[in-house]
This record gives sequence, structure tokens and C-alpha cells, in this order.
Amino acid sequence: MLSGAKVIDLTIPLGSAIVMWPGAPAPEAETLVTVQHDGYFARRVSFFEHTGTHFDAPCHFIEGRASVDQIPAQSLVRPAVVIDISARVGSDADAVLTLEEVREFEKAHGRIPDGAAILLRTGWEEFNTDELRYAGAPGDLRFPGFGVEAAKFLVEERKAAGLGTDTLGIDPGIAVDFPVHSQISHPAGLWHLENLQNLKSLPALGAWVVVGVLPLVGGSGSPARVLALIP
Ligand SMILES: [Zn+2]
Repeated sequence: MLSGAKVIDLTIPLGSAIVMWPGAPAPEAETLVTVQHDGYFARRVSFFEHTGTHFDAPCHFIEGRASVDQIPAQSLVRPAVVIDISARVGSDADAVLTLEEVREFEKAHGRIPDGAAILLRTGWEEFNTDELRYAGAPGDLRFPGFGVEAAKFLVEERKAAGLGTDTLGIDPGIAVDFPVHSQISHPAGLWHLENLQNLKSLPALGAWVVVGVLPLVGGSGSPARVLALIP
């Protein structure tokens, strides 16, 4: 079934130039050994758990809930549902996915299957090398995200396994109290993927997403290699 599958990489390469959540430390890499000097090359790297294309575990917002290493592998390979609102969002940094848009999506494509990864394409990935445009100004974060009603519907009525987006966060930048993270998705045990890219290459339905997240023991999240398979 997968022999002819197309593989799409949804991951931003992870290096020191990556746009961070304002105030979070940039990743660092230190060369420890080199081929010329030691016969082999290796570095020590350090990164904030929520760097670049990354995964949020429920314990990121809810104490005592699952950490990254406790997420079952089964939950990391999911049918992908791609809701594309980029045409409507345009340059509106405060746009959110509405419940009406989810219903329109189902009218056009059929019912969203239970247990899917819901990936929101806002078009914001276009700005992911421009800190001010992608994140907003320090103290005034501005980027699109999931609206509360839409998130509630996807979590409660469509039993989503996870939510993903091509912006810095699932909650829009203006939602300073993170209502989706703190009241809807993480309390229900869902994971998130943030700072995805290449969502434009995926069909609305029919692809699979494979979340290659590091199983950091006790981790609140981790950079992840996120791949989509189109059968
Ligand atoms: Zn995160």
C-alpha cells in the first residue's frame, strides 16, 4: 500500500536561524570532535523543547498529564486532515479557524474521521524566516490559530488525536491565556504540532502524518521530524 507513497516533509530545518517563541533561547550546537582531529564528527546540541517544528505533550499545560515519552506510538501515525483557510486569512494575523469553516470543510470533503491529526493551513509558513512578520512584536504576538469553538468541536465531536498548524502556536497570538492549550486540547490528552510547513502539498483528506518526535523522558515537547505520506 505504501510502496508508491509520496513522502512530504513538513519540517523546518532546525538550526540557529530558526524563529523562536519570543524570549525562548535559540538552539545551540557545539562541535566536540572533528573528523580531521578525532577521526569522527559529532556535536552537542541544546534546544528549548518548543523549537521549530515541534510537538507539545499534554503535560506542557496540564500538570501530571502525559509527557512526550508517554505518548503511544499508535497516536503518532494518524490520518491527516488538512483544513486550508489561507485564502481567507490573507495577511490577517488575528484570523482564527471558525466552527463554520469546519462545517464547510465537511460539506465539501465529507465527515472528518475520528482519531485524525487536524492540520490547519493558514499560509503563515510563508513568513517563517521573518521573525516580526511570523511572530509579531515582542509583547504583541500576532499570528493565526484555532478558534475555541472549532477546536472544541474537533476534540469533542471528532475525537481528534492531535492538532497542528503552520504558525508559532495552536492558539492565535492574541489569545494570551492559551484557551485551546489549557482548556480544550491538552486536558483531553491531545498533542500539538506547531511551525509545520509544506501543508500546501497535502490533500484535504487521504494523507497520513508520521510524527517523529524524540521520546524525551518527562519532556513537555520536542522538536520533531514530521512526515506526511500520500498513498
Ligand atoms: Zn509548543
